[in-house]
Amino acid sequence: MNAQPKASHFIDGAYVEDNAGRPIDCIFPATGEVIATLHSATPAIIDKALESAHRAQKQWATLTPVARGRVLRRAADIITARNQELSELETLDTGKPIQETLVADATSGAEALEFFGGIAPTINGEAIPLGDDFAYTRREPLGVCVGIGAWNYPTQIAAWKAAPALACGNAMVFKPSELTPLCALKLAEIFVEAGAPAGLFNVIQGYGDVGAALATDPRTAKVSLTGSVPTGRKVYAAAAEGIRHVTMELGGKSPLIVFEDADIENAVSAAINANFYSSGQICSNGTRVFVHEAVHDQFVARLTERTARAVIGDPRDEATQIGPLVSAAQRDRVLSYIEIGKAEGARLEFGGSVPRDFAAAGFYVEPTLFTGVTDDMRIAREEIFGPVLSVLSFASEDEVIARANGSDFGLAAGVFTKDITRAHRTVAALEAGTCWINTYNLTPVEMPFGGVKHSGVGRENARAAIEHYSQIKSVYVAMGDVEAAF
Ligand code: NAD
Repeated sequence: MNAQPKASHFIDGAYVEDNAGRPIDCIFPATGEVIATLHSATPAIIDKALESAHRAQKQWATLTPVARGRVLRRAADIITARNQELSELETLDTGKPIQETLVADATSGAEALEFFGGIAPTINGEAIPLGDDFAYTRREPLGVCVGIGAWNYPTQIAAWKAAPALACGNAMVFKPSELTPLCALKLAEIFVEAGAPAGLFNVIQGYGDVGAALATDPRTAKVSLTGSVPTGRKVYAAAAEGIRHVTMELGGKSPLIVFEDADIENAVSAAINANFYSSGQICSNGTRVFVHEAVHDQFVARLTERTARAVIGDPRDEATQIGPLVSAAQRDRVLSYIEIGKAEGARLEFGGSVPRDFAAAGFYVEPTLFTGVTDDMRIAREEIFGPVLSVLSFASEDEVIARANGSDFGLAAGVFTKDITRAHRTVAALEAGTCWINTYNLTPVEMPFGGVKHSGVGRENARAAIEHYSQIKSVYVAMGDVEAAF
């Protein structure tokens, strides 16, 4: 299999190579096969990318907002027309099942571009009457924004960052995860085809050191990272040195609370989606499933029964529901957490191993279900980022809210109940940036997304993202004479 791109980087409207950079092997997670070899950006490549973005941004910011929006909407249309091909590449890059990538990756990126292309002409300042005088504000771009991506949703992450950034008149240099370098290059190609000036959206490859070089460069006005909390700490600190703007989309250990009056079948569906979609490699996953003691056994029985039906297989096959994890290292990390869970005394209800048919090749782990999990166990406190679901039993609303909030993370939370008053009261008390009532993990572009506490700073999607990719200039206009004391 060969998914070799024309070159490693896309800068100033064209593919660029510099073989002096450290090699990056792109591995198809279902087989372990190397499908492309790219090179990490050298200092010369980093410089070229930032220079060309700097130049393109000046030109882009002079366009009318309608003209900018049109380019984004054209890019959305091209992505939609090429969804099949882009989804197949995303499946090779990540190992995620094609039945997922066809509906959740390029399509979600296209929606972000359509949304921000549509609202670009509405990004305005305001007029402020001050008696005879007045003031007005201009909402201006920040300049060159750096995007740094994780490996779980490579196309979506690149588009979620690029769409609001470009709509506000910024340029972007994007560095994908070294594990999934392929798809962002396609987005860069598509922007040029849609009419964006060369250099407006550049993609350069690299490991953490390339991300660090971008985050500390004086030409960088803002850094938006999607990644883990430890990386977030480093990138936030690096950006702080130059007083740069940041958006931090980090990890989570989110609670999904199932009250005794919940629709159990729907709650089980949500728990499946919140733990096993993308083999559990989703930041907002509800990995701590708190189930009221009155419905605990019924919930676990149904969840086990339905999980046993999951189709594990080659992610290129449309029937496959569970594919591999992204890398051997991630598989080993997840397996080690399963061992930790067992050693801590949690009950392994289902899964827990490499599936027998996939032991020889690929980075597979069975969907895994633990019960009898307590708050102090590491599997209930640390982000695993794999298909491992923990069920914790609870007895009262106050108790479950306190336990759900007993985490440094605060990305997301879900509540299942038929009692509307309790649903809203519980959500109001939960320390999370995004909450769902009677569903889980739906992230439409119209709704802001992001975390509180250690899970992040800033918001992606919706109008809220505009605040994080623009700055306000205030202008006071005097209509009369200037008074002075002497
Ligand atoms: P990671 O933190 O290891 O890497 C993220 C990115 O940061 C990669 O591109 C990496 O090369 C880069 N990086 C590493 N060190 C750096 C440094 N010092 N300076 C600059 N860049 C650096 O994360 P990952 O393993 O790729 O992704 C999984 C994590 O991402 C999980 O914690 C998950 O929860 C999180 N995530 C969060 C969201 C969200 O929206 N909140 C979405 C997806 C994933």
